[in-house]
Amino acid sequence: MLYPPQRLVDAQAATAAAGLDALLLSPGADLRYLTGYDAHQLERLTLLVLPAEGEPTLIVPRLERPAAEAAGCALRIVDHPDGTDPYPLVTAALPASVRAVGVADRMWAAQVLALRETLPGAVLRLAGEVLAGLRMRKSTDEVEALRRAGAAIDSVHAAMGEWLRVGRTEAEVAVDIAAAIRLSGHATADFTIVAAGPNGASPHHGVSERVIGPGEPVVVDIGGTMPDGYCSDSTRVYVVGDPPAEFLAGYEVLREAQRAAVAAVRPGVTAASVDAAARDLLVDAGYGERFLHRTGHGIGLDGHEEPYIVAGNDLRLEPGMTFSIEPGVYDAGRHGARIEDIVVCTVDGVERLNTMSTELVRL
Ligand code: ZN
Ligand code: ZN
Ligand code: ZN
Repeated sequence: MLYPPQRLVDAQAATAAAGLDALLLSPGADLRYLTGYDAHQLERLTLLVLPAEGEPTLIVPRLERPAAEAAGCALRIVDHPDGTDPYPLVTAALPASVRAVGVADRMWAAQVLALRETLPGAVLRLAGEVLAGLRMRKSTDEVEALRRAGAAIDSVHAAMGEWLRVGRTEAEVAVDIAAAIRLSGHATADFTIVAAGPNGASPHHGVSERVIGPGEPVVVDIGGTMPDGYCSDSTRVYVVGDPPAEFLAGYEVLREAQRAAVAAVRPGVTAASVDAAARDLLVDAGYGERFLHRTGHGIGLDGHEEPYIVAGNDLRLEPGMTFSIEPGVYDAGRHGARIEDIVVCTVDGVERLNTMSTELVRL
């Protein structure tokens, strides 16, 4: 079972240990993690009130009650009809005296400010202080869910030759990829970066009307969300024809850096040391300035979550932590490259959840 109520028990204990009286969680991955309820983020208030001790309450708009009940989270649900103020329900669901609460990191500001007015005596902190530690230590079931997501996105990369051709635009290719992401078993296609030639030098380029030319490296970074909520994210570089020789030289260094960072993953090493494993190699080869970003990010019910694989993060890796390893090299005005796999730290090392070759793919 993916959503044991044990998670609520653990979250309450962690809330108390953090010196918070309650967590207030709007729709998003935190709520889904704790209750299984995949709620819509709307202007109407949906809020899980999770006191450090005592019974949790799920506050929902009246019209969302059937969906909340169908989620099977077995919580006390109270609803509010349109046109009424839902915030007194928050006060009613909390203990009489509240000094500090944790609000969902990604709650809308409109709701944060309304809660500040509702609870004038309480300090508002981030629920992430409590929940990031729980969510980044994945259970076996969660790792299996991410393994399925990885296999699904790998199957899309494996079929890239069907869509990525000289003479087509990035946008045309991306439409086909998005359809394939859904056909591969994802519930949604969340992003499709298709970055040809100089566009590849912008790490978060989306798509454009640029026509893919012969010999142009094309960075394809794609991902989606599976029906169980777990995310995929993987990048490969493609080329139709022969790329410039200096691109190939850089690509081989990048490939070695990505391999080294994956190999550095094991329990007890810091997130920063995994970043350094990729970065040192690229710096030594003269590509340091062109590696513009951190090496990776955690992944789970959110596409980007803790742990972040970045200089300065002294968090020690533990079995069950899942994150991307995605160094890149970006040559402004010319081309770029990035290789991205999701990996899991295991009891004695690492497992890649994306299992495709990291070679430059020649179509
Ligand atoms: Zn990114
Ligand atoms: Zn990515
Ligand atoms: Zn990523």
